[in-house]
Amino acid sequence: MSFKDHADNPFASLSPAVWRASTVVFDSFEDFAARKKRQPDGYSYGVTGTPTARGLERRIADLEHARHCVLTPSGQAALMAVVMGFVRAGDHLLVSDSAYGGLKAFASYWLAELGIDVEYYPPTVDGEIEALIKPNTKMICIEAPGTITMEMQDVDAIVAVAKRHGVLTMMDNTWASPLYFRALEHGVDFAVEAATKLFGGHSDLLMGSISMNDFNHYEILRETQSVLGLAASPEDCFLVMRGLDTFPLRMHEQSRNTLKIARWLERHPLVTDVLFPALESHPGHRVWKEQFEGSGCLFSFILKSAPEEAFSKFFNALEHFPIGASWGGTHSLVAYYPASQQKARKFALTDQPIIRISIGLEDPDVLIADLENALRHYQSFTEA
Ligand SMILES: *Cc1c(COP(=O)(O)O)cnc(C)c1O
Repeated sequence: MSFKDHADNPFASLSPAVWRASTVVFDSFEDFAARKKRQPDGYSYGVTGTPTARGLERRIADLEHARHCVLTPSGQAALMAVVMGFVRAGDHLLVSDSAYGGLKAFASYWLAELGIDVEYYPPTVDGEIEALIKPNTKMICIEAPGTITMEMQDVDAIVAVAKRHGVLTMMDNTWASPLYFRALEHGVDFAVEAATKLFGGHSDLLMGSISMNDFNHYEILRETQSVLGLAASPEDCFLVMRGLDTFPLRMHEQSRNTLKIARWLERHPLVTDVLFPALESHPGHRVWKEQFEGSGCLFSFILKSAPEEAFSKFFNALEHFPIGASWGGTHSLVAYYPASQQKARKFALTDQPIIRISIGLEDPDVLIADLENALRHYQSFTEA
C-alpha cells in the first residue's frame, strides 16, 4: 500500500487509520442478503476484519511473497485455524515433535479426541517422512527450527514428499520470519507467524498471521476465522504495523548481537551445548545455511549437569534478562524448560534442562557480562 494511495486514507496521515467495527452497514436489503459474497476480501462483519486488518494482511503478505493473508488474535490461534480449516475426523496429521507446545497440546488433547489420527514425527526426519505417509495423511506441521530445542528441519525435503502425496504443509515460520525464510517460495502451503514476537516486536500484544497463495485455501481460512470467532483487534493491527516499520532493522541488529552472544556461550566451560543452527557446531547448520538467509534472536543452551537449585541461582542472578515466556521483543528474555519436559517427548533431544534466551536491543557486551556473572553463581553452587 503506497502512502500516495489515499482511497482509505482521506486525511493523508502517514499512520494507518484504526477502523473499529462489529457492525458493518449495508446499502440495501439485497446487499445485506448477499453479504457472505463479500468474503474473503470484503467487509461484512467485524470478526473477519476492518480496513485496518486488511492493511496489515497486505503488508504481511508482501513480506511473505504471498497472495493472501488472514490474521488471527494470536500465533496459537493461527496454528489452530489452519488445522481446523483443513483436517477432519479420520484424517492423519503429522506434527513435528519439536513443534510449539500449544500446537502439540491442541493436537493431543483436542484433535486426537475429535477422531484425528495425530502422529508426532522426529523433527530431523527430513525426506524419510515419506515412510510415515498414509493414504489418509492430510497435513504435515513443520517448525524449523523447533523454538525450544532448535532441531533444524529440511523443509525442502519434507515439502517434496508432501507434494508427491498430495499432502498439505503448514510451517510455523516465527523463528526466521519471512526476512530470513520465505516458506511459500519453498513450496509450503501455509506460512504461520506469531506476530506477537518479531512483527509486533515490543512484547505488548498478541497476533498471528497465516499467509498462502491458493485462493480456495484463503476462502476456507477466512470462513474458518469467521466461524471460530478469531477476530484480531484493530488497535493491535495498528501496533503490529508500527512494529513492522522497524522490523528489518531490529531483526538485523538483534541477529548480529545474538550470534555474538551465542559464540561467547559456546566457548564457556560450563556450557555443554548451544542449540542454534547458525553455529557451525549445530547438527542442523548445513540445512540452515542452504535454505535460510539469517538466524534471528532466539536460541537455547544446555549447562553442565547440576541440581535445580543451581538453575535457580543462575536465573535469579541475571539482571538484564527478565524471566518470562515469549520472545522477539526489544528486551532480552530468559526462559527455563525443565528436564522432565524434555524427557517426556517422544523423540527427545536431551534429558537435561534447557535455557532459552531471546536477545533484544541492549548492548551485547552488557548481556555477556550479565551471563558471565550468572554462570559464576551456577558454578559456585555446583562446587559447594
Ligand atoms: C509464541 C509462539 C507461538 C504462539 O504465539 P502466541 O501469539 O503467543 O499465541 C507459536 N509458535 C511459535 C514458534 C512461538 O514462538
